[in-house]
Amino acid sequence: MDKQASILILGAGTFGLSTAYHLAKAGYTNVTVLEKSATFPPELSAGNDLNKIIRAEYEDPFYAELALEAMNAWKSPLFTPYYHETGYLLCNSAGAPEKSKISLQKSLDSIRQRPEFENKITPVNSRDDIRKVAPAFDGPMLWKGYFNSYAGYAHAADAMTAVYSACIALGVTIHLNSTVQNLTYSDSGDICTGAMTTKGTHYTASTTILTLGASLASILPQIKRQIIAKGSPVAHIQLTPREAAQLRGIPVTYARDLGFFFEPDVRTQQLKLCPANAGYTHYHHHHATSSGLLSLPPSDNSFVAARDEAAIRRLLRETLPELAERPLVGRRVCWCADTADSEYVIDFVPGKKGLVVVTGDSAHAFKMLPTLGAWVREVLERGRQDRERWRWKEGSDAAGVDISWRVGKTTDLQEVRDEIRRDEDAVEAKL
Ligand SMILES: Cc1cc2nc3c(=O)[nH]c(=O)nc-3n(C[C@H](O)[C@H](O)[C@H](O)COP(=O)(O)OP(=O)(O)OC[C@H]3O[C@@H](n4cnc5c(N)ncnc54)[C@H](O)[C@@H]3O)c2cc1C
Repeated sequence: MDKQASILILGAGTFGLSTAYHLAKAGYTNVTVLEKSATFPPELSAGNDLNKIIRAEYEDPFYAELALEAMNAWKSPLFTPYYHETGYLLCNSAGAPEKSKISLQKSLDSIRQRPEFENKITPVNSRDDIRKVAPAFDGPMLWKGYFNSYAGYAHAADAMTAVYSACIALGVTIHLNSTVQNLTYSDSGDICTGAMTTKGTHYTASTTILTLGASLASILPQIKRQIIAKGSPVAHIQLTPREAAQLRGIPVTYARDLGFFFEPDVRTQQLKLCPANAGYTHYHHHHATSSGLLSLPPSDNSFVAARDEAAIRRLLRETLPELAERPLVGRRVCWCADTADSEYVIDFVPGKKGLVVVTGDSAHAFKMLPTLGAWVREVLERGRQDRERWRWKEGSDAAGVDISWRVGKTTDLQEVRDEIRRDEDAVEAKL
């Protein structure tokens, strides 16, 4: 590709930012990014979060390899301030379903023989084993699994801000508060010429890259249900400075069948918790699909369902019972783009010259922030996707697929609309 070629990236979330960064770093001089959110990190980005798990274990060794490359990159100067190698406690509770046990075993198998993990993995079979790596935990914890000391978490929002600043320094133009309304095409309809915003500004480019996360199908309905928007609940509890200090250095703690949480955030002293949940869908009628239904994120996401709140409290009762009844704050549902096989999609859109999709994060892409833009650059420069698994898969349908690593049953938001709990509810309950 000509290094002066005009490249337009739609969406400044995890994929969009990393792509802009890698292109600019490689010498591309005409890179523009359009982002809907008015502030950065984008409030709508799945990556805009206190923290995300950085670990190499995967059911599929292909991704374990990629994650290890990314972990090396998390130790490079730009990223290392945001990476915290606290270790990763991955277990199943006593009542875990078989599926959850199989998933854990596959994850362990993907790393246990690798030289990077020599002396890094310790089996966990009892409460005492857990207290050896997390002495502050004093719940019953009849869990089994392992502790991996070569893993941890990233401060996600801060890492995104660092990449944003690096992009600006490298000459990338990023327009916030710029919502893409539609793509534009040549008269013949087979060449993408750029995008139109809701404000009526037309941005033209020789290559347009769609990194719109869970919202992609609203702009590219022909992707149909190769990806479906899936939402995961997140909530926090506010700790006192003393409580936060007591939990300093705890590993990322994940009971596959209950949920996970992280070391408290240093700035806010909040403990972020995600209950185990196979994900919510939010289906809409859309003419692009034969069934007439597409799942897209709703506009209101600042809640969790009562069942998720109950799951969070179960997880706390198991580990930190004194905190189990504390009000939840910062409740929200965070949206990703799931594929049927949890593979990313990084490819040219068939029949549309100059149009590339980078999607299908399937809720496991943040850890790749330092590296994934390089895979997009490869595809642009080669003019095709050589990795079969990341190709556009016409006809593939992610709806209703039982994802091996997602524990539980996918539910549509409609089914939990009577269970919605917002932050104010907690305040009222406290009053
Ligand atoms: C609860 C939760 C926990 C997670 N935990 C982890 C973890 O521990 N480790 C890990 O590796 N991954 C994790 N992930 C997954 C990770 O966050 C995602 O894989 C990743 O952020 C997806 O990146 P993306 O660029 O595809 O989407 P996003 O980051 O969501 O970016 C899409 C961007 O497009 C913008 N946009 C949308 N529509 C428009 C429009 N019309 N015009 C302009 N801009 C638009 C949005 O504002 C957004 O900024 C988690 C995800 C969730 C939801």
